[in-house]
Amino acid sequence: MVLKRIEELSEYLKEPRNIVVIGHRNPDGDAMGSTLGLKHYLDKKGHETQVLMPNEYPDFLHWLPGSESVYRYDRQNNQSVKALSKSDIVFLLDFNALHRVGDDMKNALEKYENDFALIDHHQQPDEFTYMYSDTSMSSTCQMVYNFIDMMGDTSLIDQDIATCLYTGIMTDTGSFRFRSTTSKTHNIIAELIDKGAENDKIHSKVYDANSYSRLMLLGQCLSNLKVLPEYKTAYIVLTQEEKDKFNYEKGDTEGVVNYALSLKGIVFAAIFIEDVEQKLIKISFRSKGKFSVNTFARNYFEGGGHDNAAGGRSTIPVKETITKFTALLPKYKNELQTSYEA
Ligand code: 5GP
Ligand code: MN
Repeated sequence: MVLKRIEELSEYLKEPRNIVVIGHRNPDGDAMGSTLGLKHYLDKKGHETQVLMPNEYPDFLHWLPGSESVYRYDRQNNQSVKALSKSDIVFLLDFNALHRVGDDMKNALEKYENDFALIDHHQQPDEFTYMYSDTSMSSTCQMVYNFIDMMGDTSLIDQDIATCLYTGIMTDTGSFRFRSTTSKTHNIIAELIDKGAENDKIHSKVYDANSYSRLMLLGQCLSNLKVLPEYKTAYIVLTQEEKDKFNYEKGDTEGVVNYALSLKGIVFAAIFIEDVEQKLIKISFRSKGKFSVNTFARNYFEGGGHDNAAGGRSTIPVKETITKFTALLPKYKNELQTSYEA
């Protein structure tokens, strides 16, 4: 864990400030929940806070309290640039390095003259002025709870803050089942429920919001599933053509990779999603046990993340990407065979 100048930050926040809070490109439940949860808290402390996101976030997160106030850097560029230029400090949440916000926003942040404060649980964070980094944490939302606690302010947590933080903890832990879910996570969740997070409704809003075409797209993904038992590996390829056929929308493939990992005996799962417009293949990796997909994604697919959940990309065609992927597996045969014992 890294805690850098958090006491100074606490002092700095004793005066009302103009604050910008940023999440990563293609924001997920944890990015949205942590930025909005922190915003509600900072506003309550008397600051003026604006959340900026690089691009669109999935439909199933649009109900989050405060989400209507978020500026998208790609769409509301003027407002976003203005918010940045008048801010005293920028909080970076749920990502570890500026390139994770995409090129346009990264360029703007690299020119930013005031300080950054990072709160994040990804590995190998870059250096910023103020830092709270802990890779053992289930989610950035759990860290925002801890941050509010460090500021001595848990009594300020209201229903909106609780709802945002609950959502991100829930989505980043696979509904409290991944190894990163500890008794502390459950204690925080219990407190968030006491503060007004309606757990049943939050689960429903996030997980029971499928469109018919999204379910059909899932069907397509499942019929594309390939299994390589020798390497305890399973993967899914989804082409642009298939996405178009089922009216793909952002977020539609969120969590699909977990179906591959749910196969009995599988310890390594991947999904390869073709994006013709961006001329790349977006990859999600998941693993069980010791096999680090963070290392794998970093080494071969320009990505990273956590030991058991990481992402990456490939800029060669789909077929060649799969050939590259499968050709790497023999090297890891032993590691994969012994990665996980239930
Ligand atoms: P997902 O597969 O859900 O997109 O991402 C899984 C995890 O890996 C998330 O925590 C995400 O932030 C991280 N991640 C995804 N793509 C990248 C990437 O290109 N680079 C890095 N460093 N992390 C990524
Ligand atoms: Mn996260």
